[in-house]
Amino acid sequence: MYNFRNYYEAKTIDEAIFKLSENPDLKIVAGGTDILIKMHGGKLEKIDLLSIHNIASLKNIKKLEDGTINIGPLATFSQIANDPLIAKSIPVLAEASLSMGGPQIRNVATIGGNICNGATSADSASTLFALNAKLKLKSLKDERIIPIEEFYLGPGKVDLRPSEMLVAILIDQKDYKGYSGKYIKFSMRNAMDIATLGVSVLCKVKDNLMEDLRIGLGVAAPTPIRCHEAEEYARNKEVTTETIKEIGKLAVKPTKARTSWRASKEYREHLVEELTGRALKSAILRAGGVEIA
Ligand SMILES: Cc1cc2nc3c(=O)[nH]c(=O)nc-3n(C[C@H](O)[C@H](O)[C@H](O)COP(=O)(O)OP(=O)(O)OC[C@H]3O[C@@H](n4cnc5c(N)ncnc54)[C@H](O)[C@@H]3O)c2cc1C
Repeated sequence: MYNFRNYYEAKTIDEAIFKLSENPDLKIVAGGTDILIKMHGGKLEKIDLLSIHNIASLKNIKKLEDGTINIGPLATFSQIANDPLIAKSIPVLAEASLSMGGPQIRNVATIGGNICNGATSADSASTLFALNAKLKLKSLKDERIIPIEEFYLGPGKVDLRPSEMLVAILIDQKDYKGYSGKYIKFSMRNAMDIATLGVSVLCKVKDNLMEDLRIGLGVAAPTPIRCHEAEEYARNKEVTTETIKEIGKLAVKPTKARTSWRASKEYREHLVEELTGRALKSAILRAGGVEIA
C-alpha cells in the first residue's frame, strides 16, 4: 500500500535542506495529495520521505518592501482563496484556487506541491504563468530564482535539481499592479474534476485600449504555456469584438493539445479560442472597460 522506508519531519527550512543534502533521493511531502496517490498506486516504492508540512515559515503570504508578493509554497488553496492580500492584489489567483478540488483537498493541498508535481492541469499554474511568477529554489550550497515558464520541462517533469526545494513563489509588483484577471476552468463537472482546459487572462486596459495582455493556458500542451503571439498582437489595440476574436485565434497557435478520454485535440483547440475570448471579456469588464458582445 504505502511502501516507504523512512520518514523524516523537518521543522525549519535549514533542517529540510540539510536532510536533502545528505540524501538527494529523499522525496518531499507537502500536503501529500499527489504523492500519496502515486504511492498508493504503486508508482513510488521503497522511498524515503521528508515531510515539510510543519515548516511554519513556508506557509506565509506577504508583501515585501518593494511590493513583490511572496507566497510560501506551503500555502494551501483554502488559505490563498481567503487571503486578504491575494484578494486585494491578485484576485484571479484566489479565483483559480477556489476552482481546485473540493474543500477537503483545498484545506491540505499546497500551491508549491501543485507546481512541483509538474502537471499541465495544475489549476494554479496557468495563472502563475500569466503573472510572470518567479520561483525561488534553494539547496545547501545554492539559491536561484527562475521564471515559472522555465521550470516546466515536460509532463510531470520540472527543473528541480537534486537536493533542491521550492521556498518561495514571487510576483513582482509591476506584474500585478493595475491588472485585472479572469480564470476559467473547463471541466466535465463543476466539483472535484481535473481541468479539460484552464485559461487565465490578465490585462491592463485604459480608454478602451489594451495596454497589456498575458494569457496562460493549462492542458493545451504537455506543460502550461503562454500565448506570446496573441499577447503581442493585443498590445495597444482597441478593445473590439474583432480584436478579441483574433486574440482567441492566435491563442491556439502555440498549443499542442492532444486527444484523451476527456476531450479530442480539436475540441480543446476550440475551447482555447472560445474561452480565451470569454476570459478576456470578463477581465476587461473587471478593469472597468466596456462590455463586448
Ligand atoms: C481528490 C483530488 C482532487 C484533486 N483536484 C485537483 C484539481 O482540481 N486541480 C489541481 O490542480 N489539482 C488537483 N489535485 C491534485 C493535488 O491536490 C494538487 O496538485 C496539490 O496542489 C498538490 O499539493 P500537495 O501539497 O498535496 O503536494 P504533495 O503531494 O505533497 O507533493 C507533490 C509533488 O511536489 C513535490 N513538492 C511539494 N512541495 C515541494 C517543495 N516545496 N519543494 C520541492 N518539491 C516539492 C513533492 O515531492 C511531490 O513530488 C487533486 C488531488 C486529489 C487527491
